[in-house]
Amino acid sequence: MHDKVTLVDHPLVQHKLSLMRDKHTPSAVFRQLLREISLLLAYEVLRDLPTTTTTIETPIAEMEAPILKGKKLVIASILRAGNGLLDGMLDLVPSARVGHVGLYRDPESLAAVEYYLKMPENLGERRVIVVDPMLATGNSVSAAVNRLKEVGATDLKFACLLSAPEGIEAFTTAHPDVQVYTCAIDECLNDHGYIVPGLGDAGDRMYGTK
Ligand code: URA
Repeated sequence: MHDKVTLVDHPLVQHKLSLMRDKHTPSAVFRQLLREISLLLAYEVLRDLPTTTTTIETPIAEMEAPILKGKKLVIASILRAGNGLLDGMLDLVPSARVGHVGLYRDPESLAAVEYYLKMPENLGERRVIVVDPMLATGNSVSAAVNRLKEVGATDLKFACLLSAPEGIEAFTTAHPDVQVYTCAIDECLNDHGYIVPGLGDAGDRMYGTK
């Protein structure tokens, strides 16, 4: 296993992912499953968040209790499918700041083209979790991380649902400092840049646009 990639292979995640892959699963169920998986994924992605302590009083005694340290983290969603992971992660970390990166894939070249960027301030002092369900060619997330680094981010992680070996190779080569969290690594990409066996187009599956 690649040391830049953490495989989140919890049985609950795998079960929910299989339901999402099934083409008969309706959009409403697909979105709900994605939200549930994002909680479990976030649990792993945020495992090494730095902590400090604060003095509190329980009903029994005073204690030094652990709390999160530093500025609020940022969840950066790659539009539009990233929002499916964002919602569940916000359930778990409601105080997180949210950024959006708008990218579309040129259908001919498969290159990522930026149309929107909005990020919170003080990016250099925050952990940034980039979210996009599908790591296919790696073009979108590489372009998104390039831009986030340009605007100051230094501490980044990338969380996705499914990945292709080609995308993992491309992304970890371009950004070896960014740990990837994925729930499965599939076989390959097809000629249209879709993950095989995959789950189809994540945005279309979420929003019923096809
Ligand atoms: N994006 C998707 O939504 N699905 C894929 O299989 C690849 C990229």
